[in-house]
Amino acid sequence: TEKTMEKIVALCKNRGFVFAGSEIYGGLSNAWDYGPLGVEFKNNVKAAWRKKFVQESPYNVGLDSAILMNPEVWVASGHVGGFSDPLMDCRDCKTRHRADKLIEDFTGESADGWSNDKMMEFIREHHIKCPNCGSENFTDIRQFNLMFKTFQGVTEGTKNEIYLRPETAQGIFVNFANVQRTTRRKIPFGIAQIGKSFRNEITPGNFLFRLREFEQMELEFFCKPDTDLDWFHFWKDFCEKWLHDLGLTKENLRLRDHDKEELSFYSKATTDIEYLFPFGWGELWGIADRTNYDLSRHQEHSGKSLEFFDPETKEHYVPYVIEPSLGADRVALAFLCDAYDEETLEGGDTRVVLRLHPALAPYKAAVLPLSKKLNDRAQEVYSVLAKRFAVDYDDAGSIGKRYRRQDEIGTPFCITIDFDSETDGCVTVRDRDTMKQERIAIDKLTGYLESKTDF
Ligand code: ATP
Repeated sequence: TEKTMEKIVALCKNRGFVFAGSEIYGGLSNAWDYGPLGVEFKNNVKAAWRKKFVQESPYNVGLDSAILMNPEVWVASGHVGGFSDPLMDCRDCKTRHRADKLIEDFTGESADGWSNDKMMEFIREHHIKCPNCGSENFTDIRQFNLMFKTFQGVTEGTKNEIYLRPETAQGIFVNFANVQRTTRRKIPFGIAQIGKSFRNEITPGNFLFRLREFEQMELEFFCKPDTDLDWFHFWKDFCEKWLHDLGLTKENLRLRDHDKEELSFYSKATTDIEYLFPFGWGELWGIADRTNYDLSRHQEHSGKSLEFFDPETKEHYVPYVIEPSLGADRVALAFLCDAYDEETLEGGDTRVVLRLHPALAPYKAAVLPLSKKLNDRAQEVYSVLAKRFAVDYDDAGSIGKRYRRQDEIGTPFCITIDFDSETDGCVTVRDRDTMKQERIAIDKLTGYLESKTDF
């Protein structure tokens, strides 16, 4: 039995995890809508991140900044003149250049409308040099034509052009001083947020892997210069542990350090945590030591001090930043791929099981009366549990079929109400993975599910 994207996409569509966006109009390329099960599941993924990165963290606090920001933010961050141009970095002096501008400046020729490959070839052939240091050692051209543009206000013109944010990080940087002051935090501390980002990706695809509208879960962790590499390793381990604890198969995960050539010019160290999707290895989580680049840039462009004053050492400094950045949709896809299983049962039948961590499963339990005559008691159990958990109720079809339906959507526990329940006050709880059953008192069910689905 092979795990394929086709099977996973089909399950998502058929069971209400993910639908094609605007489907009745023929869809919109690369747009997906989360259905009833998908929204529960994705919310659970985000809640699991928030719990470990904010609620349980002695260091981090939350934020929810606006998607629309002052356009100057994107100049300071390097996204304007960055995300919208064909860029290449000089490997020797680490300066960044627009490929078309280099060509024009050196040869007087206009590279208007040229492909990146054509520009690259031209630059090599004409031995075009870095205007800063004279080197010919450039990285490949990266096209950063990625920001969605729109207009604020009723008139459309360059004056009121604004962008949909391509990352949530900048909302954190511009609020650094606000958060530090109001929470009275001392360095080190972090600001975490979950939110939508938009990138006009040139090659979107692979289902939820590369979207144009997606959600990010980002932490910007501010620390003292010279402690940055220690914190970089701390957060790298922390992120890896989060994935392991939520049950991602270790063999399907690897850490890939960026070498000197690949590192952004402002980054001291970057590691990608990658996952082996059915279509190959792909980046899940980018963890970067971004030095004090971001805050320094915003300090320069806004004219506002973003220095931290350390009351103990009496030092002023611009904090260094460690950034672990994770895509909510992308990691949700990894959890789905990892959980998908087809199991051959005794007797030759197969069942599809989503072996999701119980904390991520859309429903924690399903209440299944063995007979419609038991509906009243079953409804009672359902309403008690529904106060605390997302639970399903199903009284249609054979019990075997009902188990299969729950297995396929990852429900970790099936609770059957039978005629004995009336006399002994107990129900049968079936475990999704082992299919073992045990008898549990109705008044112990809440505690049982709580302990089993905790993260
Ligand atoms: P990639 O190399 O895959 O384009 P990136 O290096 O541009 O990713 P970052 O800018 O570091 O990605 O973004 C941080 C995280 O946000 C990624 O690790 C990924 O999980 C998520 N992400 C980025 N772009 C997308 C996208 N188009 N769709 C879904 N998730 C994304």
